[in-house]
Amino acid sequence: MNILVLNTGSSSLKFQIIKTDLEMIEQGTDEMLCKGLVERIGSQALISFQVVNKPQFKTALPLKDHRAALKYALDWILNPETQIPGVESLTDINAIGHRTVHGGEQFTNSVRIDEAVIKSIEDNIDLAPLHNPANLKGIYAAKEVFGNQVPQAAIFDTAFHSTMPEVSFLYGIPYQLYRRFKIRKYGFHGTSHRYIGYRYRKLEGLRREEVNIISLHLGNGASACAIKKGKSVDTSMGMTPLEGLMMGTRCGDLDPSVIEFIAHKENSTLEEVMQLLNKRSGLLGISGLTHDMRDLEAEWNEYRDRRAKLALDMFGNRIKKYVGAYYATMGGADAICFTAGIGENSPTIRKIACEGLNVLGVEIDDKLNEETIGGKESIISTPTSKVKVYVIPTNEELIIARDTCRIVLNAPLP
Ligand code: ADP
Repeated sequence: MNILVLNTGSSSLKFQIIKTDLEMIEQGTDEMLCKGLVERIGSQALISFQVVNKPQFKTALPLKDHRAALKYALDWILNPETQIPGVESLTDINAIGHRTVHGGEQFTNSVRIDEAVIKSIEDNIDLAPLHNPANLKGIYAAKEVFGNQVPQAAIFDTAFHSTMPEVSFLYGIPYQLYRRFKIRKYGFHGTSHRYIGYRYRKLEGLRREEVNIISLHLGNGASACAIKKGKSVDTSMGMTPLEGLMMGTRCGDLDPSVIEFIAHKENSTLEEVMQLLNKRSGLLGISGLTHDMRDLEAEWNEYRDRRAKLALDMFGNRIKKYVGAYYATMGGADAICFTAGIGENSPTIRKIACEGLNVLGVEIDDKLNEETIGGKESIISTPTSKVKVYVIPTNEELIIARDTCRIVLNAPLP
């Protein structure tokens, strides 16, 4: 089957076509055929598409909405000159898998999309006002372009964390608020953490119940996940992605009183304070320079900027705190796995995060750490390290394609 994997943001659309079936899943031989990104939808859109092992196609042109962006991508996919093996007409795309951010309490696994599912994702807009409307745009656009014959599935960022126990997901606020409004920790990046658990299991030749790791997804958004016996038992993001680790522009954990204090001092509204905590905090807020880890590291390496260094140290230190906390609550872990843009590419952050963790038996091999960048998968701990440390490039699209395939074939989901 050829599965079109769609990930739509408020003004972006990312896609991949992945060839897979039950046999290929079993053998791990699924193949990514092409990928693409459309940014700045709604104005002069930036486009970069690529067939595997071929040069990138780049252009810019006005695209008014997600439907126009999807249509443009499909025109490229089906253009005879593009030459994607086995993909010549619309009927060669057998199903569509959507990355969907918030499934609330209702969706504990991936589902086939029908009217009732769309309604429930719409109902969850309250919980994810920034993300679910964007994901819905992708679902509406795909329905319009493909019609109802092509099956579509939703793969939720929250679903992997639905195994968290109450002690992890409840906040210490009146229980009625959970009952009435479902205020609780949901967690995000679930598809990525799930992939890391899966990949670690394959690398180590383990059964799912034997996976006891701390997964660290460090991108623009960042989260830690405690995976015990193959299941998420705790994660650092909360009801929204604002909680937990410090991020590119998000503050992460914070005394809630700070919100009231800022509002008083700055004479700002709640919305303005939330905007500040979401968009102007984290690495950007501390450094006063940038939210981008690469630029931040350059500022420190080239100009010895003190606040750039402070931002790096705070980012790494928060990670360390979570690793320590999860190590304790899980009763030990066999590995720590780094992933996503920063996790896969920043030896500096990995080093800061692991420094001092030798008390838990974590020993990094500095050479391996330095060498593991640019999408390389590798162990970076010493042979004597009690806790292994891995860098595993994430692959959410693969999980989305596989779940979509299983749903279409009525095969059991893992
Ligand atoms: P998103 O959460 O948007 O998917 P990514 O997973 O792509 O983000 O991660 C983006 C982050 O990864 C940025 O902070 C970027 O600077 C960082 N990053 C990418 N490459 C490097 C690198 N070589 N060194 C340090 N940081 C990097």
